Amino acid sequence: MNKPVKLDVANLGPNPQDKIITNLKPQIIYIPLEDKSGLTYNHLVKEGDYVYKGDIIATSKDNFPIHASVSGYVVRGEVKTIATGQKVKCLVIENDFKEKYRTTTGSKRNLSNYRKEDFLELLKTSGIVGLSGSAFPTYQKYQTKNPKLLIVNAVECEPYLTCDKALIYHQVEYLLEGIDAILDIMQIPRAIIAISENDFISAEELNKYIGTYPNITVMSVPSKYPCGWERELVKLVVNQKYHQTPSELGIITNNISTIYAIYEMLKYHRPLTERIVSLIGNNFTKPINIKVKIGTNMGEILPKIKEYHPKEDTIIIAGGPMMGTNIPTTDLIVTKDLNGLIITSNYHEKPMTPCIKCGKCSEVCPVSLIPNEIIKNINNPSMLKKLKPNRCIECGLCSYICPAKIKIRDFVIKAKKEVKND
Ligand code: SF4
Ligand code: SF4
Repeated sequence: MNKPVKLDVANLGPNPQDKIITNLKPQIIYIPLEDKSGLTYNHLVKEGDYVYKGDIIATSKDNFPIHASVSGYVVRGEVKTIATGQKVKCLVIENDFKEKYRTTTGSKRNLSNYRKEDFLELLKTSGIVGLSGSAFPTYQKYQTKNPKLLIVNAVECEPYLTCDKALIYHQVEYLLEGIDAILDIMQIPRAIIAISENDFISAEELNKYIGTYPNITVMSVPSKYPCGWERELVKLVVNQKYHQTPSELGIITNNISTIYAIYEMLKYHRPLTERIVSLIGNNFTKPINIKVKIGTNMGEILPKIKEYHPKEDTIIIAGGPMMGTNIPTTDLIVTKDLNGLIITSNYHEKPMTPCIKCGKCSEVCPVSLIPNEIIKNINNPSMLKKLKPNRCIECGLCSYICPAKIKIRDFVIKAKKEVKND
């Protein structure tokens, strides 16, 4: 595993101390029936049906649910763009703005008052997934046998994104309460919250309250990329490596925004239907963090955001500058994995030149791939397989470092798909 890299980028992200703007009133909600991994969902409702907020309206073949994030009528099906740039079929719900739940349960005073089995079941039925961009179902992580450590990932090493940091600044007490409850329910002896060493705001907020929780500590990790990548983070925190998943070491890792979703699930029995997205780029008078409903069409709400001033000749990136994907439209549907949206103009990329075989892409690749060889063999399936592009974590370091400005990551992702489909 190569060493993480200090990125040379300006701090253009939203200030985590600024208010998180909420925009929870979209007219129309689009619920994609396919996720970024290609997993499809069968809809359980049809045109004309009334749905309550939090109703399960579609499930995957292993019964992982998708919920309605508003109450209202299902009006049609429509194809829309998601963060990968793919166009997928969506269920369209017209919001009646009543925010009606089918059943209401009061808030729970004692968050730990759950049996382990019920907690696992609730994680699944509430549709909780990793909110750092992975969208991996969280209940699967908690199936770890005899867990001995919970690592809470608040490193947020992707430049410009500050959703997690904003959550720590604004909701630190709830986050700590949530972690404490998880430790109790799952009988995990301790938790470590990992933050970036230059994240003084989070450190200060956490240190104000952490004394009340003897089993929770804060640890700083180098402010390098990709220190927030699960494998790198586990190595930094416990100085141990794992083969497939951290569960081999008795470790569960969770992103801090996911912890907040778990807190709301435990407290209010609410499924995951909202998330924070960082909006960045020179089409905004200032970068902001905005809380939106899953299924919101950014194209509908952007004109209502006072900081948004669309310009000509924009590039649009769903996600952050390293791991994000160029997409052709602002008509982007918010999914659980969408942590940022960059809209910027007058962006002049240096022209791409031929590979000079400097080897820098291999030097930085955290999973020790040889990206320039992958590009060379993009049309040679048997050789491609041997180069293992499927191990790529899509971190974007190869493209970042390449002096020839080759969009290496895009090629490797293409190769990854080809190997998968082979
Ligand atoms: S994007 Fe993939 S190939 Fe490129 S450095 Fe990251 S892991 Fe390696
Ligand atoms: S970093 Fe760019 S120029 Fe250097 S070997 Fe890799 S692809 Fe070629």
